[in-house]
Formats: sequence, structure tokens, C-alpha cells
Amino acid sequence: MHFANEYDKLKVEPMPYRAWFQCINEKCNEQYPLNKIIYRCKACDSLLEVKHDMQALAHRSAKAWMKLFEDRYKSTQWPYGSGIWGKKEWVLPQISDDNIVSLYEGGTNLFWAERFGKIIGLDNLWLKLCGNSHSGSFKDLGMTVLVSQVKQMISEGAPIQAVACASTGDTSAALAVYCAAAGIQSIVLLPKGKISMAQLVQPIANGALVLSLDTDFDGCMRVVREITKDETIYLANSMNSLRIEGQKTVGMEIVQQFDWEVPDGIIIPGGNLGNVSALGSGLLMMRDLGLITKLPRIVVAQAERANPLYRSYMKNFESFEPMEAGKTLASAIQIGDPVSIVKAIRTLKQFNGIVMDATEQELADAAALGDRTGMFNCPHTGVALAAMIKLINAGKIDRSEHVVVISTANGLKFTDFKVNYHEETLGFPSTYANKPIEVPANVGAVKKALTNALKKKNEQKEALENALKNRRAKNV
Ligand SMILES: *Cc1c(COP(=O)(O)O)cnc(C)c1O
Ligand SMILES: [Zn+2]
Repeated sequence: MHFANEYDKLKVEPMPYRAWFQCINEKCNEQYPLNKIIYRCKACDSLLEVKHDMQALAHRSAKAWMKLFEDRYKSTQWPYGSGIWGKKEWVLPQISDDNIVSLYEGGTNLFWAERFGKIIGLDNLWLKLCGNSHSGSFKDLGMTVLVSQVKQMISEGAPIQAVACASTGDTSAALAVYCAAAGIQSIVLLPKGKISMAQLVQPIANGALVLSLDTDFDGCMRVVREITKDETIYLANSMNSLRIEGQKTVGMEIVQQFDWEVPDGIIIPGGNLGNVSALGSGLLMMRDLGLITKLPRIVVAQAERANPLYRSYMKNFESFEPMEAGKTLASAIQIGDPVSIVKAIRTLKQFNGIVMDATEQELADAAALGDRTGMFNCPHTGVALAAMIKLINAGKIDRSEHVVVISTANGLKFTDFKVNYHEETLGFPSTYANKPIEVPANVGAVKKALTNALKKKNEQKEALENALKNRRAKNV
């Protein structure tokens, strides 16, 4: 025995890493192979999650994993330069490299939002820009995994004709573009009139079969669940936990970008709640494999008009009731009946979680204030920033804390939101509106306009900075 153990330690050849679907219901824990067309447990109908052979992964030391991830990060070594596939062994170990459909996702920048932080009262605030990605949102992180697995299943003879999703916009954009890259047909079901033009144009351009349904996201979700009962149409919504496997790298990547230091808090906007579950799952895996020893606190931010998780949080998660989501500028999180509710609550309990919501004006003003300090926010990032400001004001986040806000999409996808804000046509005051000034085309008029406008800009800047001083004075 003794010799066998010693021998095991010396073995250097890579272990065969393995992953499978497992029912999240602890009383069931039924397992299924990843190449089975299945989205919920056959035995108890709970959601599934991807589980890994942690013992095999633990054969490599934490230090060795960190070194491997660092060596691959943004390298030119295909497919390992991708933020997802650089962590392939932790994501989808059994896929053949030939079937990987990667558009070099992940590896997005994490920047110190120094000026915004100072204005709202945080010294160490960072933004993780997941929207600086191929299709302009974090959805790419999960879609590369799902579409790669589909490609692998097709190569093994699975009768998949198309991949379908219901979407509030960004999922369909990511699905369409990854499918287009792989030569697989995509189908997207969108709620008519509820997504931005920029989001609609993406799946159209990428050749998806686009169906516009006169309902909301939850209505589209109900339909897509029915049509994907036919196994030739594969379901790409985040109920499919393959996407979570890709998305879980976001927390890992943040920690890696901080030289393996764990921040105190991570704030993430939540709708269907797959992403918060993914964030938690990646961080737990890092802890279990010894790469980190502490966990950050996780904050989920919701729009007040679509805040079923917040309502449940206010009741200590003792009950959960789906709601009909009201119209919100944060259209990607206009969801009243989140698919991943059970996983999200589990995550929040493990991460000392907080849920906070934000009104339309709060989210729009927070996004605009962020833009004033060098960001270019989508409304969902606005929700996260607004929730953070409220938590700082309530004393739940301390000014010395190291905080990361996950920015979920690129602001360029939401130009209508921004234009309407600055034209002050959103139906509430736009605190940071910045309207163009119309001036006759002569130097005298321009000079005069500039003198006035610069004075006004300076006053605005002083007002922002005074607001901070007042807050500080109140805090001490
Ligand atoms: C999908 C999406 C979200 C919400 O993510 P969930 O996993 O549904 O909670 C937030 N912001 C943007 C921009 C999105 O596209
Ligand atoms: Zn089950």
C-alpha cells in the first residue's frame, strides 16, 4: 500500500479527466453522459449541472494549474488562447480539439474604475468588461462550449438538425454567430418589440432562423422547451448546463487577472440567473482544487420591474414566486420566472450573498454616471452599478473593499437607450443628460457657446466631486 501511494504521487502522465451531467437534487443525483440530449433530470425533473472528476483534477497541484492557465492565457496556441479553452480540463475535458468552435472568447479586460469609484465612495472598484467579446456580451463564454459539444455530438452521429433558443437578445446573437462559424443551423425565438435593433440584427446577419413571437421572454421560453422535446432540435438556453461550464470561467479569470487574489465582492446583474450560478461554480472549483482559500461575497442586481429573486431574498429565500416581468430598459434581464432559480439561491447561500434592485431612473443614471467617468455601459451594467451605489449608501459595502462589477454587454448594443437618455425622453429626469448644442457655423458663435458650455461643465464636475465630499463627511 505504502509503495503504491508513493508511486501514485510520482506518476506524471496526465490523468484522464472526465465530466458528466448530474441532477442538482441532492436526493437524486442521477448522472448522464454529456453527449446525451437531455436538459432536465429524467427521474425528478430538476436541473442538471456538469460535474467533474475532481480527484483526477486534484492530481495536478494548484500551483501547476495556475502555471498552466497563465502559460495559455491569450496565447496564440489554438484553442488554448481562448479564455475558455485555456481551462479546457476544467470545462469540457473530453471534447476533441477538432470539434472546438472558438472565436477567441474570454480574456476580456478588467480595469480599475478609479474615478467612478472615488465619486461613489470606493477606493478599489474594478469593471470586468465581458461585453468586449465577439458577439458583444458574456453569452459567448457559454456558447462556445455548447456549440462545440453539439459539433462533437453531430460528428458522433447524433441526429441534430438545428440548435434553438429563446432569447432577450444576447443569447440569440451568440448562438447565431457560433453556429454560423460551425456551419450548424440556429433557430431563435424572440419576444416581439422587446429587444434592441442592434440585438435583432445580429442573429439575422448570422443566418439564424428568426421567429418573432408576440409574447415576453418567459413566453418564448415555454415554446422553445416544447419544440426542443424533438431531439433533432437541440436547446441552447442556460437551462442547458453546458453553457454554465463556459460562463463559470469568468470568476476564475477575474482571480487570475488579480494574480490569484480573490476580491471581497463581485456584483453581477441577474435575469435567468444562469450567470450567477456559473460565477459561483467556477470559484468553488478553484477553492476545492486549492487555487484560492477564500470566497468573495456575491451580489446579484435586478431591475425593480423584474425582481423575483430580490423578493425572495427579502423573505430570506424561504419562498420564491415567479412574477410577470414589467418592461425595463435592462431588457436582457426582463425575466420573471428564472430557470436557474434553485442554483442561484444555492450560490447566494454559499457566497454570503446579497440581492439588490434598481429602478429605471437609478439604473439609467448609474450607467450614465459611469459613462461620464470613462465607461460605456449597457443598461444591465447600469443595474449592477446602481445596486452597488445603494449598498454603499446603506453601509453594506465598505469603502475599503475590493469590488468587481461584471459588465455583461457592450454599450454599443444599446444605443437607443443612451440616445433616449441624453435626449431626456425616457419618462423620468436624466440627471447626467448631455445634449448636443446647436450653433451657427461661425467662429464667434462657437467661441461664445464654448465659453458658456465649459463653465457649465466645470460646475457639473464640481457638483459630482462635492457630492463625494458630503458623503464622506456624513460617514465619519
Ligand atoms: C443574459 C444577460 C444577463 C443575465 O444573465 P442571466 O444568466 O440570465 O442571469 C445580464 N446582462 C446581459 C447583457 C445579458 O445578455
Ligand atoms: Zn433528479
